[in-house]
Amino acid sequence: MLKSIHPYDQAVIGEFPLLSAAALQEKLDRSSQAFRHWKKTSVEYRCELMLKVAALLRQNKEEYASAITWEMGKILSESLIEVEKSAKGCEYYAANAGKFLADEIIQTESRRALVAYQPIGTVLAVMPWNFPFWQVFRFAIPALLAGNVGVLKHASNVTKCAIIIEGIFREAGFPEGVFQSLLIDSDMVRTVLESDIVQGVALTGSEKAGAKVAAIAGANIKKSVLELGGSDPFIVLPDADLDLTVRIATQSRMQNAGQSCISAKRFIVLESIKDEFLDRFQKSIAALKQGNPFHAHMTTGPLARVDLAEELARQLEGSVKKGARLLTGGTHSGASFQPALLDNVKPGMPAFDEETFGPLAAVITARTEEEAITLANSSRYGLGASIWTRDLEKGERLAREVESGSVFINALMKSDPRLPFGGVKKSGYGRELSELGIHEFVNAKSISIA
Ligand code: NAP
Repeated sequence: MLKSIHPYDQAVIGEFPLLSAAALQEKLDRSSQAFRHWKKTSVEYRCELMLKVAALLRQNKEEYASAITWEMGKILSESLIEVEKSAKGCEYYAANAGKFLADEIIQTESRRALVAYQPIGTVLAVMPWNFPFWQVFRFAIPALLAGNVGVLKHASNVTKCAIIIEGIFREAGFPEGVFQSLLIDSDMVRTVLESDIVQGVALTGSEKAGAKVAAIAGANIKKSVLELGGSDPFIVLPDADLDLTVRIATQSRMQNAGQSCISAKRFIVLESIKDEFLDRFQKSIAALKQGNPFHAHMTTGPLARVDLAEELARQLEGSVKKGARLLTGGTHSGASFQPALLDNVKPGMPAFDEETFGPLAAVITARTEEEAITLANSSRYGLGASIWTRDLEKGERLAREVESGSVFINALMKSDPRLPFGGVKKSGYGRELSELGIHEFVNAKSISIA
């Protein structure tokens, strides 16, 4: 049984039986049948349907946002933004998929040579709960537009969202079986991925889940794309615009109650500006209002599950034991966790070495720019990063030295459909979004005519 529990008061809000082995096989067969027809449809037709998905998302955004907040507890205004972002993703790809998937003519000595981008079949998506709509759409939009069909194993605490998303594709006119949510637990992922019907897997989630699922994919010679954890550095140089820097530092770390792979987690600040930054950052964090995510004046909801708050408390306490200084917040009860700020964080502490998936900001002091880059790169992860300086040339130069999939200068690190998104090191491999994202699950077929 899959259970949905409202994180704020722990009320059980839904129970969903798991698929039997026979029902799962039926769904996989349906997806295989759907692919036979879907792959022959034109990209223009698929784009038309995707625009209907966007329209439905906009039309029903309050209903969908409320489902997100009920299941994983983010504040309602953030759920609304997530639904709108999903609609924008549909519109972006509907406008560009034709161009991205067009044949690419290559000059060779033959009469005609080209690359045709063709779909590969059923692709499995294993998705997390932190952006229960956006993560799924980020995968599904390009995958379906490329002519693939999708099956989703969503995180087990957001089943209602999974069911709603399947319904949106159906209502928009996508043929039966082109996108299905499978109500299965993580143990059943192996069965799906080992099926000959499934050709690849996109997983967004933890390093541990990524390693397990990629091992199954590898053993079955299937492509995998992994979008895993992060411990993004936020590097503050002495000439940074501090008003902007502190505002975005707070937003980046604390939005979604800190449960974002690309939220800034390690604030690496040059010594000469450290005291002023810290003073302003502390005030900004202490002013946040943590509570019921349906109340409009709250800035932060609870974490999505009680065990996540307990894990964050362990990381905080472990860091304090090793010499970090707690400046504000850090108390917790149930799934609620008061936004916290730690100073004097160093390598060797959990707040530096591990991904902290909640509202906990860790400030680290660097004596020089060089040391700041060394500290930024002293992480097993390499997803995003940001650099704060008025010297844009220097910002760009330093950006090239950071080991990560993206670096934003003087701006919030965020995913943008126009830019590739993904990581290096233990943050995973492959790219989502942009032209690169739509080419992950295609057969780039070379055709050469002598
Ligand atoms: P998670 O525990 O790894 O779960 C992610 C998904 O994987 C869920 O559907 C989960 O199913 C499934 N799963 C877990 N263990 C599995 C296994 N052994 N075999 C097959 N499937 C398995 O991660 P989460 O707690 O939901 O999400 C938080 C993590 O995701 C963080 O590390 C965060 O940084 C990362 N994340 C990365 C990105 C990115 O784009 N790079 C974006 C968002 C989140 P169950 O729910 O049934 O366990």
